[in-house]
Amino acid sequence: MLLENLKQMKESYWLNDHLSSDVKEELNSKGITYEDIEDARDRLDRFAPLLKILFPATLKTNGIIESPLQCINTFKEKLEILEGVKINGDVFIKLDSHLPISGSIKARGGIYEVLKHAEDLLFQNKLLKIEDDYSKILTFKEFLSQYKIAVGSTGNLGLSIGIMSAKLGFKVSVHMSNDAKEWKKQMLKEHGCEVITYESDYGKAVEEGRKSSQNDPFCYFIDDENSKNLFLGYSVAAKRLKGQLQTLDIIIGDERPLYVYLPCGVGGGPGGISYGLKSEFGKNVKCFFAEPTHSPCMMLGLYTKKHDLISVNDIGLDNKTAADGLAVGRASKLVGKILENVIDGCFSVSDENMYKYLTLMHKIENIDLEPSALAGVKGLVFNKELNNIHPNAIHLIWATGGNMVPPKEMQKFIQEGEKYLG
Ligand SMILES: *Cc1c(COP(=O)(O)O)cnc(C)c1O
Repeated sequence: MLLENLKQMKESYWLNDHLSSDVKEELNSKGITYEDIEDARDRLDRFAPLLKILFPATLKTNGIIESPLQCINTFKEKLEILEGVKINGDVFIKLDSHLPISGSIKARGGIYEVLKHAEDLLFQNKLLKIEDDYSKILTFKEFLSQYKIAVGSTGNLGLSIGIMSAKLGFKVSVHMSNDAKEWKKQMLKEHGCEVITYESDYGKAVEEGRKSSQNDPFCYFIDDENSKNLFLGYSVAAKRLKGQLQTLDIIIGDERPLYVYLPCGVGGGPGGISYGLKSEFGKNVKCFFAEPTHSPCMMLGLYTKKHDLISVNDIGLDNKTAADGLAVGRASKLVGKILENVIDGCFSVSDENMYKYLTLMHKIENIDLEPSALAGVKGLVFNKELNNIHPNAIHLIWATGGNMVPPKEMQKFIQEGEKYLG
């Protein structure tokens, strides 16, 4: 039934029926520990003095790349009317769309892995010690320029890795899929990155990027489909979110469960964040992945348990969607395997609805997002399927990108959404 609906590109909803009863134990059995997340957090703290200098936008957060959390209950009320549903609890939005440096969720994982690689190289060559002031890294641009970083991307990962790498001095090659937006390629070129475009989709761009770096010992390939480092970079979000909620006197617990809706492409971003959230909040957080009806690769992989052995093309879908950040046909096996018994569910959403929510968000909350970033909104609607959501529940829409979209493009998105708002 689910497969049939997915094939017909109907918006669908899947609840995980093999959830582990012991979240902590399940997470620990996957070769990633709480200490690994803390280690990633410490690394980002070490880099803060450097980031402050390289990116003045991080001055406000003292060199930490973090995004605001905002209550959007007015949006909630409008959505309830628009969709004819009742949403129990309060609705918040996590504005990764406004993360410094690259304006998307990729400013977490992508940048983390570049920094980790730079640190590894500088440690190995005895140029840097862990107790040093990392702003010293500014003087190693020439050293780092001997090395190259490569990545395959639909756009945003390339943008975050490209900008960060170039600032540190690395050479950069970004292998872009056909959905990558022209302005993203242009911006990368302005930063001195090499941009290679393919006529095919994301999977091919990653494959070509991987191939091109295989025979070059000075080239490091950031593998979006398999990277534990990317995953850890994303996971750091959780503890910081806990802090942000606490400043609003919100303590997640039995009487205040947290529901999080995360747009999902290959899975690294939402997967890493969910891993962090589950480690932080255990059974009191429910995480759902949101995907386009044209590209529900994670739902397909988890539901069939085939992970990366099945692609959306195999069930006749085209993997073509306005949500370019989510245009991925085959999910990450790494992420699927880690989360198969802890992720609470997945759902898919049409391009039309993403546009509709985009325009609503613009009008009601004055927040401008790219289509991918609205995928999670549908979770608020689908969750009527879940019985008895606590009236004190906190719902969190993870808004994954948008801040760097050129105003003209944004205007087009908003106009498109007008059509469906009626
Ligand atoms: C990349 C991206 C995602 C999803 O991240 P994955 O790691 O590919 O699952 C979501 N939204 C936007 C805007 C993105 O660029």
